[in-house]
Amino acid sequence: MEINKAAEAVSSGAPTAVQLEAINHLAKAQLTAEQVYVFSLRLCDNQVDRDFERFDEGALPGLARLFLGKTGIVDHKWSSDKQVARIFETQVVKEKGVSFIKAWAYIRRGGANDEIIADIEAGIKKEVSVGCAMGRAVCSVCGSEYGTCAHQKGESYDGQVCCSILQEPMDAFEFSFVAVPAQREAGVLKSLGGKQPKLKELADEFGAQAEYRALYQQAELGKRYCKELEDSIVRLGLALELGVEAPVLRSIAKTAPTEDLLKLKAALEERLAESMPVTTQLSGGRGKEEAVESGFLI
Ligand SMILES: [Zn+2]
Repeated sequence: MEINKAAEAVSSGAPTAVQLEAINHLAKAQLTAEQVYVFSLRLCDNQVDRDFERFDEGALPGLARLFLGKTGIVDHKWSSDKQVARIFETQVVKEKGVSFIKAWAYIRRGGANDEIIADIEAGIKKEVSVGCAMGRAVCSVCGSEYGTCAHQKGESYDGQVCCSILQEPMDAFEFSFVAVPAQREAGVLKSLGGKQPKLKELADEFGAQAEYRALYQQAELGKRYCKELEDSIVRLGLALELGVEAPVLRSIAKTAPTEDLLKLKAALEERLAESMPVTTQLSGGRGKEEAVESGFLI
């Protein structure tokens, strides 16, 4: 089964002599310390994650070996020109009772790669997504092959939460950087000053202008929709002669939640249809409704 997990990149800097040797062992060219940027990655660990899965501690060394030499890509596209980083060293580390795979990766400095390095340094490309193939998953409650017993991941059995334990590493795949804006405390957003940043400013800062524009247009459409809904409530209220003045109807329509207004509109339309003369009712409710609707769309 193929597994995908989130991991974390930690910025580092220039490689040590030993690291450079390992890098050159993998790279085709003989690189100097100035030509490469090194960072570490925290890959899979033996802790239960959000999916109620965990890697078996015994599987970590084998998995660590499989990640050696694997490349890192900027986005999830599988094109070779996007491969910017490469893992040159992996080891299983135990810290505070947690075992995890620590990987060291390098990026060649220069060109577009410098932007990625800057993003890692700034914490923007701190998160990475890693994938691997595992041969086996077992139930943490009873030890049988997961899926063959009645236990369900995330459910509690006598106080023990079931998870699936991933075993038998088979393959490790490329990892990819996930662009996540750094935590405010981490520094990147501090450039905007102490005030609350505006969405527009954030979009400009992180190159998301196109998405911002699309959202803006959708919001404008939404506003227009709400205005039309508001208008129909007012007109229906007046047409039904509820004895409520237009400003009052508009005030209600402006403040009530959209879902409530939709229900109110439907109810008012129904009431209006009922109050219509019998002759129009004979012609069918549908045509009448449309007549009312189109009357509102001036
Ligand atoms: Zn079980």
